[in-house]
Amino acid sequence: MIYEKVAEELISSSYTIAFTGAGISTASGIPDFRGPQGLWKKYSPELASIEYFEKDPKNFWGFYSLRMRGLFEAQPNKAHYSLAELEKMGIIKVIITQNIDGLHQKAGSKNVIELHGTMRRSYCVLCLRTYDSLNVLSMIEKGNLPPRCDCGGIIRPDVVLFGEPVKNIYEALSIAYESDLVISIGSSLTVYPANLIPQTVKERGGKLIILNMEETPLDSIADYIVREPVEISLPKIVENVRQKILS
Ligand code: ZN
Repeated sequence: MIYEKVAEELISSSYTIAFTGAGISTASGIPDFRGPQGLWKKYSPELASIEYFEKDPKNFWGFYSLRMRGLFEAQPNKAHYSLAELEKMGIIKVIITQNIDGLHQKAGSKNVIELHGTMRRSYCVLCLRTYDSLNVLSMIEKGNLPPRCDCGGIIRPDVVLFGEPVKNIYEALSIAYESDLVISIGSSLTVYPANLIPQTVKERGGKLIILNMEETPLDSIADYIVREPVEISLPKIVENVRQKILS
């Protein structure tokens, strides 16, 4: 039984990390970028690019504020709660995520590295003052488009837009370097340099577990692959871990 084996690996590992992608949040109603129901089938990715923000911040925010509103309304699902539970049990040390939705933190996870930033925060491009994005959304609702800082600078979301480099990659890679087990959850593992995280763990002699509905380019180096919706597979894994710890 694969869940028992995965649970055994989690219990016997000394430094397990989780790597999460859009697939963990689809059950929370957040559309995946590249999947069949992907957001970018409906909207052009160009709308979330740094070029578009710089060229037309008013229309950028017209689109982006809708996206942000949807993300703020989303709630964590069983997969997020399962990871928070594994962190509380001392099994998962760090979550490295490609998501900007903040749902790991909403579910109670503490140690989260966000490679693409977070939509919960925004900042002024001139003085770098930070803003809670909820306050920025209310500025926009009052007709301040694009939203501006007291200094006159335009405010932007603290997320990695298309055309920008990922954040915190060196910190993430140094954590991967120390890890002996990585569990990749709902990531297509196609985006460089994020896919370096699981690759690094493998190259250092650690193990890789992939929970994803579709095939990934790293399937050939994975130790275990589970193709079930992650909001179903992760609770089963937690249940198996709990039973083994108690027995
Ligand atoms: Zn400012």
